[in-house]
Amino acid sequence: MLKLDCGLCGNPSCRTMARKIATGDTKPEQCFNLSTRPEYRQNLQKIRQLLREGVEIGAKGTIVIEDTGITYIHPCISETGKVTAEARLTTSPEGTVDLKYGFYDPIQLCMMLSMTGFFKDIRCSPNLGVGRVTVDDKTVLIYKDGRINVRRAKDKEDAIQTIRLVSRSLWGAIICSYCGNAGVDCASGGCKNCITHVCPVISGGPPDPTATSRGSIQQTTASTIFDRVKTLETKRYFEEGVKQLDDAFDVFEKASLKVLEERGFDSSALKAIEDKIAKVNKLAIKFIVETPGAYDAAIGLILSGVAIDLTRVADGLKIVASSKKALSPKLKELFSEAVTIATEAYYAFRAVDFEKAKRTAERYTAFRKRWTEAFRKMSEKDVLTGIEKIAVNGFYMSRLLTKPLPT
Ligand code: SF4
Repeated sequence: MLKLDCGLCGNPSCRTMARKIATGDTKPEQCFNLSTRPEYRQNLQKIRQLLREGVEIGAKGTIVIEDTGITYIHPCISETGKVTAEARLTTSPEGTVDLKYGFYDPIQLCMMLSMTGFFKDIRCSPNLGVGRVTVDDKTVLIYKDGRINVRRAKDKEDAIQTIRLVSRSLWGAIICSYCGNAGVDCASGGCKNCITHVCPVISGGPPDPTATSRGSIQQTTASTIFDRVKTLETKRYFEEGVKQLDDAFDVFEKASLKVLEERGFDSSALKAIEDKIAKVNKLAIKFIVETPGAYDAAIGLILSGVAIDLTRVADGLKIVASSKKALSPKLKELFSEAVTIATEAYYAFRAVDFEKAKRTAERYTAFRKRWTEAFRKMSEKDVLTGIEKIAVNGFYMSRLLTKPLPT
């Protein structure tokens, strides 16, 4: 796919769209860019050809794992006294997993392995869908189908703890079998289904191979996370993460204003945003790993989700700022509106201001009509795609407050 993640097809990322195309749930022509821009005609043809030849994704049916997700534990062949263990993760405590789209999003899997700070000697191939890391003296292999293999663990308990660490760290990379999004995209507000229902990836908490059923869940919304976190020992990770997000947003606003006022674009601003987002992601994963309650851990996933929104908002700014020509008044007007939508949405989320969030979502709907008209008439498709990327990710944030979460 195009890796633009512009959101125009209704999916927060091109990867989600690619999964839906591969499984026949949608058609490549539903990608706004593929279907309307001549420069992507070859990409469209290539995708059609791949579909004719057949593409492999996920697997048919549902796997049911009896009693425990630990598939085996046996003595290490290479080191006496140590054990090797393998677990098959599932997305529900009942031990079932629907592999329609696969288990882990391979790109998200590799990104998350590198951002946690828990692992050493990280090697990961999105193409093969396999990651390999070192945890203390143990080698851990992670497969895109949800298998985690631990070698040279001290004993069974050590192996289980390592599997739990990896499983929690990679929670956001699990693909929702309902909508095809990685969990972190659902946590960004980018999934329409998960705004009205508890996301299936989030509902069971991070997969734990030895957990028994957690029974029925109570439901709350993401608007409660700022209060809920106050009682948790791990609140410092969350609070520092939010501070980094605030700082990153501040940099985004200032850099956008410079572009609007034609005072140039400071590329160091993007680097500053990237660095802050990297810190947010690391803190969010630390929060998920160390927060004892499985449902409270979802607060960390929301933190990661907002970080993804902001990453894409900053990407949009980069596209707009890379324009070789000065922005026309019409483009300036749309760009300014997109920045306002993103900014208002973020502050509505931070202030838990439902009214403001609702107004921002309405503002996006009106913006989208004007934008679509402009996209039809104007030749600056790249710039317009960047502008939409800013606005749509703001829109995602505007609907986060009402997003259902387990408690
Ligand atoms: S419309 Fe945008 S997000 Fe959707 S597949 Fe096309 S380029 Fe990717």
